[in-house]
Amino acid sequence: MRIEYDVKLDFSDVLIRPKRSVLKTRAEVSLEREFRFKHTHSVWQGVPIIAANMDHTGTFAMASTLSQHKLLTALDKFLGPAEWEKFAKTHEQALASCFVSVGISEADFTKLDETMKMVNVPFICLDVANGYTERFVSCLERLRETYPKTVIMAGNVVTGEMVEELILSGADIVKIGIGPGSVCTTREKTGVGYPQLSAIIECADAAHGLGGQVCADGGCTTPGDVAKAFAAGADFVMLGGMLSGHDETLGDVIEENGKKYKRFYGMSSKEAMEVHHGSVADYRSSEGRSVNVPYKGPVKNTILDILGGIRSTCTYVGAHRLKELSKRTTFIRVARQLNEVFASYDVNK
Ligand code: 5GP
Repeated sequence: MRIEYDVKLDFSDVLIRPKRSVLKTRAEVSLEREFRFKHTHSVWQGVPIIAANMDHTGTFAMASTLSQHKLLTALDKFLGPAEWEKFAKTHEQALASCFVSVGISEADFTKLDETMKMVNVPFICLDVANGYTERFVSCLERLRETYPKTVIMAGNVVTGEMVEELILSGADIVKIGIGPGSVCTTREKTGVGYPQLSAIIECADAAHGLGGQVCADGGCTTPGDVAKAFAAGADFVMLGGMLSGHDETLGDVIEENGKKYKRFYGMSSKEAMEVHHGSVADYRSSEGRSVNVPYKGPVKNTILDILGGIRSTCTYVGAHRLKELSKRTTFIRVARQLNEVFASYDVNK
């Protein structure tokens, strides 16, 4: 057993220090980025925020709306080839913003092949809760060989040495995060995890050294957290909870005591396992929550709020473009981040 005494940080442990700036207004800030991917050499341009490939947020309705704002969506892995084909026929432009998700079972790979034969989805998200297994790495190598021209994002991991291994095994983007998610109970159930801000800083450094990218996945609860993730070096940020509760998510509005909610569950929750596998297998525990989140209406308003927040962050540190944000960031370690004395009285909540 060993103990690392270096302090590792979360979003709530820091604030971004303002800097002198020549920017006149936040309207001058561009949030679009252009990336050339390591293995495919293809170029993508857009706003590097991705809706999470969870049942509720990884929907075609989400992809359709987010693509209008140049954001990306990772569709949930349970969608089949016929559903993809139907979407592709009517949403050619939105398709350019989509990830098809895949796990590491043979059935997953077969379904992916069938889907890709019908629809040329530009991005693949190879997704497992624990990206540290040899089996995961060999699946990634196989995927890279089969799809040399498709951008592959693979995860999740939280340490630099594994980021390097995944990039060298075929990943263009490595997804970062173990345990920070809004409906994740991994830390509770297993004691495993890594504070997300430090994970992003360390993993981005490792990925950029090899010409790869990272996607910060999980733990953002406010536009300020999204800004901190980019400031820490994330090339992409993936959002689940912040996009939950909207019209574009799966499921109906639930009414309770005159208030409106929508369901949102973790993909390792008991509910998700029952929906997709019939039950929770005896050898595993659920590592996710089921929650009813307040109904929030169209996702467009939330997107504009997030993008407005990040533009303002850029203005505070004098970054004309999102690309410059991390170079212009000094994080300060804080003991208290927010004043929430009236938070529960907010008339907009
Ligand atoms: P959020 O933006 O809601 O904080 O985090 C979203 C991320 O949480 C997802 O992209 C995924 O990586 C992770 N996640 C989703 N469902 C579960 C779950 O049931 N258990 C765990 N451990 N993580 C989950």
